[in-house]
Amino acid sequence: MDDASNSPQEKGYSKQEKFGASGTAHMADAYRSIIQQLGEDPEREGLIKTPERAAKAMQFLMQGYDQDPANILKSAMFAEDYKQMVLVKDIEVYSMCEHHLLPFFGKAHIAYIPNGHIVGLSKIPRLVDAFARRMQVQERLTTDIRNCIDETLRPLGVAVVIEAQHLCMQMRGVQKQNSVTTTSAFTGEFMEEKTRAEFITLIGTRLH
Ligand SMILES: [Zn+2]
Repeated sequence: MDDASNSPQEKGYSKQEKFGASGTAHMADAYRSIIQQLGEDPEREGLIKTPERAAKAMQFLMQGYDQDPANILKSAMFAEDYKQMVLVKDIEVYSMCEHHLLPFFGKAHIAYIPNGHIVGLSKIPRLVDAFARRMQVQERLTTDIRNCIDETLRPLGVAVVIEAQHLCMQMRGVQKQNSVTTTSAFTGEFMEEKTRAEFITLIGTRLH
């Protein structure tokens, strides 16, 4: 499911209801069934519209499947001689753990060293969203982002660090309530100790 290319029948979707009214109705039926199984009354006032709202919310949270992350970068690539580290830090990340369908969220820090091309800075957070708004694990989200920048922009190196809290850990109380999971992925010049250390210092995380 890592491939984000659109299938023909997905063309013309609207962001929040990509399956159209009948698709949303099917998803709403499934949510209604879950509500019933939980012993609740889906017909009571507060819940009457919940199945439909939940179906639309889930479609919104999964809209990354309809986005082509490489195209997001390609839409704003510019030839440029700059060869210093470009760093975008503290990018908000909201994703869904594919094991429990519960959110994980936090910050991403992304750097690259250009090799002839730079990319519009606003595209980096959009790239993060395109991969985050899917069923994910933090590890794959981290490498998906790294690989996409590496393969599309072909820079001298890419560094991605994500720090996130997982509600499946926190709400289910199986682990420390405020633990933060850190994942990282590097290529090229960031494989060298000195460059990587500079990046880690700049983002100010405790990663070693
Ligand atoms: Zn989980």
